[in-house]
Amino acid sequence: MEKRELVIIGGGPGGMTAAIYAKRAGLDMVLLEKSAYGGQILITHEVENWPGTKAISGAALSEAFREHAEHLGCELRKTLVRGIEPGEKRHIVKTDSGDIEAKAVIIATGASFRRLGCKGEAEFIGSGVSFCAVCDGAFFTDEEVAVIGGGNTAVEEACYLTRFASKVYIVHRRDQFRADKMVCDQAARNEKIVPVWDSVVESINGDGVVEGITVKNVKTGALTDIPVAGVFMFVGTLPNTAFLHDDQLDRAEGGWIKTDGHMRTSIPGIFAVGDVRETPLRQVVTAAGDGAHAAMAAYHWIATLQS
Ligand code: NAP
Repeated sequence: MEKRELVIIGGGPGGMTAAIYAKRAGLDMVLLEKSAYGGQILITHEVENWPGTKAISGAALSEAFREHAEHLGCELRKTLVRGIEPGEKRHIVKTDSGDIEAKAVIIATGASFRRLGCKGEAEFIGSGVSFCAVCDGAFFTDEEVAVIGGGNTAVEEACYLTRFASKVYIVHRRDQFRADKMVCDQAARNEKIVPVWDSVVESINGDGVVEGITVKNVKTGALTDIPVAGVFMFVGTLPNTAFLHDDQLDRAEGGWIKTDGHMRTSIPGIFAVGDVRETPLRQVVTAAGDGAHAAMAAYHWIATLQS
């Protein structure tokens, strides 16, 4: 069986930073990624809060992370992780391309967009229902669309969609957005954005493709039909932990992995970083910071195993 000091699962900002720090600390490491390196920022149009870079596309930042890691000699491998079998001093990482025995494991698998679960959502995915404005926004040039949610993602992506769409409704279940003030102010200044307050989506309607949504006012119970060609769902995120057993690591509500300040989970030698862990802020910069902490904590853990 392949043996490594450190296995990192996930190639987003958290995993890549952990790889860079681990390699510079001299650890024998491999980073495993199931699809493209970069994680969620790959579908982010522009990142404006990565220090030292005024604005960069998510794709370009992802590529810069990958290039940096490879330049340092980090081993990056495309494979799907199926599970972790924890041990006292060694853990087995089970992958599609074989098992790897590791002294330490860093979980950096991120989060995915939550589904709303309303009528028509599943039926119209790819036919008008989308979870990615960067991927699908241009399909709705000069058409009217709806964004569902009131967090930073919903309001930022609604602003982005006004580049294409003639009108963008933001359907939110309360009467104020959760998003940061700067983002809300930007949306308020945008004449193409129309908030639909205190409203939830009852159904997404159409015949083969989306033709509209029915929303319910949660205060009055009134139902309203809004004709739109596209519906963008931004109602939060869920941790990517399907490869773990439910009771394998201590979790917070929602399934987020609990860690301490060194990114240590409830199992010695297993660490978690970035969006997959319980944290008050999910950003590129916080995931990167977590990755640095975890790599150094893994380094010290491995040193104690050898002493
Ligand atoms: P989020 O902050 O959790 O917001 C989810 C939104 O969806 C909330 O407005 C919530 O309503 C609404 N929602 C949830 N379940 C719903 C349901 N069943 N029906 C209707 N509405 C529902 O998620 P996010 O916007 O994806 O952001 C995730 C994290 O990334 C956050 O920490 C966010 O600050 C961060 N982020 C930061 C930036 C940035 O700083 N540039 C950009 C994007 C994301 P309520 O408000 O009523 O709960």
